[in-house]
Amino acid sequence: MSDTGDGDGTGHEAFPTDRPAVVTCGLPYANGDLHIGHLRTYVGGDTYARALETLGQETAFVCGSDMHGTPVAVNAEKEGVTPEEFALDWHEQYAETFPQFGVEFDNYGHTHDETNTELTRSIVRALDDAGLVYEKSIMVAYDPTGDQYLPDRYVEGTCPYCGEPARGDECDEGCGRHLEPGEVDSPTSTLTGNPAEYRE
Ligand SMILES: [Zn+2]
Repeated sequence: MSDTGDGDGTGHEAFPTDRPAVVTCGLPYANGDLHIGHLRTYVGGDTYARALETLGQETAFVCGSDMHGTPVAVNAEKEGVTPEEFALDWHEQYAETFPQFGVEFDNYGHTHDETNTELTRSIVRALDDAGLVYEKSIMVAYDPTGDQYLPDRYVEGTCPYCGEPARGDECDEGCGRHLEPGEVDSPTSTLTGNPAEYRE
């Protein structure tokens, strides 16, 4: 909701507004059991959506499972199934679980459904058509003992800026900087504890 100068000091239009409200929450990764901490997010969203509806606001409460990402790929490989099968199993479990806690989405989808796939492709096509997509070689951590490349969240080491322990993509305990692949010093694999090296 934007501040339209409503004058009552609340910083938003009075509900109900003419435009529908969309309420959503961060997507859960479809890579394992939900835990009690998830409810903190989704019960809050559900409560807010219900409050808006009580005020007569047209409201869509939407969310879905994130079917993509390294944890899904890695865990699927461990179980010997495709990432799609693996994530879909968890997605179906989430879709059944949320209503049991009173969290009632108007739509609970997932990132691999047709609508999202087509929308994502159209964005990439538009970027590509505008000449904004290009090839570039980067340094990626590699575990020579385990013979595997390590995506950012499977690497930890030391922040090159502040010297605190850091993850491959973020100095979350020190200066808080976002880190590019290849930046973290003394990289080790979080999967095996092996020292890693950078390869192009
Ligand atoms: Zn740092």
